[in-house]
Amino acid sequence: MYKAGSLSAAQAPAAASAAAPETEQRRRPHVPQRTCIGCRKKSDQAVLLRLARVSMEGVYAVRVDERRRVSGRGAWLHPDPACLRLAVKRSAFPRAFKGPAGITDVERWFKALENVPTGNGLETVQPESGSEI
Ligand SMILES: [Zn+2]
Repeated sequence: MYKAGSLSAAQAPAAASAAAPETEQRRRPHVPQRTCIGCRKKSDQAVLLRLARVSMEGVYAVRVDERRRVSGRGAWLHPDPACLRLAVKRSAFPRAFKGPAGITDVERWFKALENVPTGNGLETVQPESGSEI
């Protein structure tokens, strides 16, 4: 007897989806990572402060490069006084700039940052919920 039934035996195991993860991993956000010279943690370049060393009459001074336009050697620091303190403590500035680097300007920048009246304290005010008198 003739069998007319065509067995479609060539059913490919559709496991093509297994190739996806690699592209998924490579799809990282396009934000360069930089290391803070204070706490040594990596952060997005966008949240770090760029510091650049400029030479003024033979004296090297570190400036806060807010526009990120200053060319030359740069360093990155969180806009956090604690990170500045850490960087100073670790002599991270002369190390990052491979030489003497006055940071008066940076300190001034941070001082101005602290003086900004933000109005909101760091401590969140918890409303007293148990006010049953
Ligand atoms: Zn930091």
